[in-house]
Amino acid sequence: MPTTPPICQVAVPGPFAEALDYLMPDGMPVPAPGQRVRVGLGRREVVGVVTATPASSNLPRARLRPVTQVLDEAPVLDPNLLRLLTWSAEYYRHPLGEVLHQALPVLLRQGRPARAGTRRYYRITAQGRRQARDEPARAPRQAALLQLLRDAPEGLSATELESIPPGRWQGPLRALQEKGWVRSRETSRVPPRTAVPKPGPPLHPPQTAAVEAVSRALDGFSCHLLQGVTGSGKTEVYLHLIQAVLDAGRQVLVLVPEIALTPQLVRRFRGRLAAPVTVMHSGLGDRERLDAWLSAQGGRAGVIIGTRSAVFVPWVRPGLIIVDEEHDTSFKQHEGFRYHARDVAVMRARMEDIPILLGSATPSLESLANVARGQYTHLRLTERAGGAGTPRAELLDLRRQTLDEGISTGLLKRMETHLEAGGQCLLFLNRRGYAPTLICHACGWVADCPRCDARMTWHHGDGRIRCHHCGHERPRPPRCPACGGTLGGLGEGTERIAQALERHFPGVSTGRLDRDSTRRKGALESVLEDVRSGRFRILVGTQMVAKGHHFPDVSLVGILDADQGLFSADFRAAERMAQLIIQVAGRAGRAGRPGEVVIQTHHPEHPLLRTLVEGGYEAFAEAALAERKAAGLPPFASIALLRAEATAARAPHDFLEAARGALEALQPDSVQAWGPAPALMERRAGRYRAQLMIQSESRPALHRALRQWVPNLGKLPGARKVRWSLDVDALEV
Ligand code: ADP
Ligand code: ZN
Ligand code: ZN
Repeated sequence: MPTTPPICQVAVPGPFAEALDYLMPDGMPVPAPGQRVRVGLGRREVVGVVTATPASSNLPRARLRPVTQVLDEAPVLDPNLLRLLTWSAEYYRHPLGEVLHQALPVLLRQGRPARAGTRRYYRITAQGRRQARDEPARAPRQAALLQLLRDAPEGLSATELESIPPGRWQGPLRALQEKGWVRSRETSRVPPRTAVPKPGPPLHPPQTAAVEAVSRALDGFSCHLLQGVTGSGKTEVYLHLIQAVLDAGRQVLVLVPEIALTPQLVRRFRGRLAAPVTVMHSGLGDRERLDAWLSAQGGRAGVIIGTRSAVFVPWVRPGLIIVDEEHDTSFKQHEGFRYHARDVAVMRARMEDIPILLGSATPSLESLANVARGQYTHLRLTERAGGAGTPRAELLDLRRQTLDEGISTGLLKRMETHLEAGGQCLLFLNRRGYAPTLICHACGWVADCPRCDARMTWHHGDGRIRCHHCGHERPRPPRCPACGGTLGGLGEGTERIAQALERHFPGVSTGRLDRDSTRRKGALESVLEDVRSGRFRILVGTQMVAKGHHFPDVSLVGILDADQGLFSADFRAAERMAQLIIQVAGRAGRAGRPGEVVIQTHHPEHPLLRTLVEGGYEAFAEAALAERKAAGLPPFASIALLRAEATAARAPHDFLEAARGALEALQPDSVQAWGPAPALMERRAGRYRAQLMIQSESRPALHRALRQWVPNLGKLPGARKVRWSLDVDALEV
C-alpha cells in the first residue's frame, strides 16, 4: 500500500506566528526537526528550519507547496536547542522563524553547508622559537610578533593577529616567514589550546566554599549567585569550576557583556585551562562565526566564551553555564527579538538539567530577589583577593564648591595629591563629546536636533554637532544662526573634561575612553594598554571604564555627576547608577594601594545615594528592593511594554488606546495596563513615540494575557499607521 508522504512544518523567517506546512515530494528523504530546508515563500526561495513532520495538515494538500531541497543530512539544531528556541519565541512573543533564523550563523541562514572552512594560520617554527629568546631589539615589531606566536603554539590567523595591538603585522610577518622563523598553513579551524596550562594561586577559603557549593551540584539544575566585590577573585572561582567540569568530560558556556570581551580575559582563560577555548562575539567574520559554532556543536570546544547571542550556541556535552557581570544590560537585546540572555541562560540550564552560576559585584535586583525567594543560592566573596583594601568612598557636595568645567576644586586637590604620590586617577562621566549643549550667549539659541526632542552635542575634535539619539550631524555653526552672536558650550562631556585636565595638570598625560576615542579598530586596546603601562596618568571615560578592566595603579576614582540617575522617570535608573558607581569605584586600589572614591553630587542628602556610600551595594539593594516592592514594580511584578511610533503625532497614542481597549475586553485576571504615555523622549529620529505598560504580580497571568492579546494587535484599527513592538521584561521604560 503506498503511503502518503508526511507534511513538513517549516519555520521560515518572516512575521509568521507558527511554522508553515509544506509537502514532501516523493523520493525526497524526510528531514528530522532541526534540519534546514529550502522552500518557496511568495515569489522568493527561503531557508527554513523543520520543526515537525506530521502525517496531515489542516490545509488541503492541493494548496501546499513542496519542499524544494533538504539542506542538511543531520539537524543543525538539536532537540534541546530547538525546545529552548521555541520557548524563547513564545516567551518574548517573537515569530519562531525569526528566532530560529537569528540562532543560526549567517552562512547557515544563507543555506551554505554546515561544514568548517579552512583558513591560513601562522605558526612559529623551532628555529623561530630559539630566536624568540634572543632576538635583538633591532626589529622590535618582529620580536613582538615572535613572542605572540611563541605563546600561541596552535598558531594565529591573520584576523586574530590584526586584533592584537598595534595590529598591522603584515610587514613583520613577511620578514619572519622569509627567515624561516614562521610558517603558515591552510587548515580548518582547531580551537586554540594552550600547551601547558599554568596553575593559578591557591584559593582563599571563601573562594573554595563557592567552588565546593557549585561542584556539589554539578549533576542537575541549580542556580547560584556569586556576589563578590570587584577583584575578590570571582574569575578564579570560574576557572576552578570550569576545570572541574572539563575534567568530567563536559563543556562550559561562559557569557560575558560585549565590552568585557577583551583579549585579556580570553588570554587568561586560554593560559589556565587544559582545553580548547572558542570565542564568539559580534566582531567575528561570517566564516569565523560558523567555525566557532561548529566547534561547539561538535564538542571540540571545551569552553565557549561569548556575548549575548552565544546563549543559543549548540553543544553536545552540556556541563555548566556561567554568566559574568550578570547585571549588565547588554545581555538584553534592544530591538527585534528582545530576549535577555541571562534569563534565557537560566531556562537553558533548567532544560539541560545543569547548574548555572551568575556572577557580579553588583547583582541585578531581579537576581537578589530570587536569592531572597530561595530560588538561587547566594555565594559571597566580601574581600579583595590580592590583599588590597576596600576603597573609601565619600560624597562631595557640589553646592559648596567652585567648579572648573564640571570638576570641583576639592576633587582637583585630591587628584594632585594622588598624582604626586605616583597614583593614577580615573574620572567617570557618562556623557561623551565636548558639551551636551551648544548655546548662544547673546540670545539663548540652542542647537536642537531637528528630528528628536534632544539637543545636539558639540564635538570639539572634529568641529561638528551630533545628536546622540538619531545620529543626525552637521558642522558646528561658526556664529549663532539667530542673531549672529558667539556660540559656546554649556555643560561638559568627556572631551571637555580631558581638555580641562590637560590645562590643569600640564605635563601629565590624560587619556580618554569613550565611543569616540575608540572608534578605530584596535584603539580600545591601545588606550587600555596606555593606562596599564602608566603612560596615561589620568583617564576620563564613560561607562566603558566600568567594565572589568584591571588598572592596578589607579588610586583615585572620581564620579563627576552622580545625579543623573537620581530623578529619572525610569524606575531602574537608580539601580543602574548605583551599579555604575560601584563598578567604577572598583577600579581603585587594586594592588595593595588604598583606593579613594570621590562622588560629586548636588544631592548629598539623597537617601539612596547615602545608603550606597555608607552601607555599600548590599544596603542600597535592600533599600531599592523595598521601594520596588512598595510600588509593585519588578522584580515584584512582571511587565511588558507595548511601544508604538509614527511620524504622525497622534497615531501611536490612538493605536495604544485601541490596544488597551482590546486588553480590557479580554478581562484578564490580575493584569493592569498603564498608559498610553509618551516615551521618555517623545520624538526621536522624526517619529513620535508612546508606550503602554502591562503589568501583573503573576508572571503566568501576564503571559496568559499576552498570548491572547498580542496575536490580534496587528488587526486593530490604526495598527497599520504605526510601527509597534512588544518588549517582554523591558529594561528601559
Ligand atoms: P574578579 O573576577 O572578582 O574581579 P579576579 O579573579 O580577577 O577577581 O581576581 C582579582 C585579582 O586577584 C587577580 O589579579 C587574581 O589573580 C588575584 N587573585 C584571585 N584569587 C586569588 C587568590 N586566591 N590568591 C591570590 N590572588 C588571587
Ligand atoms: Zn544668538
Ligand atoms: Zn536626533
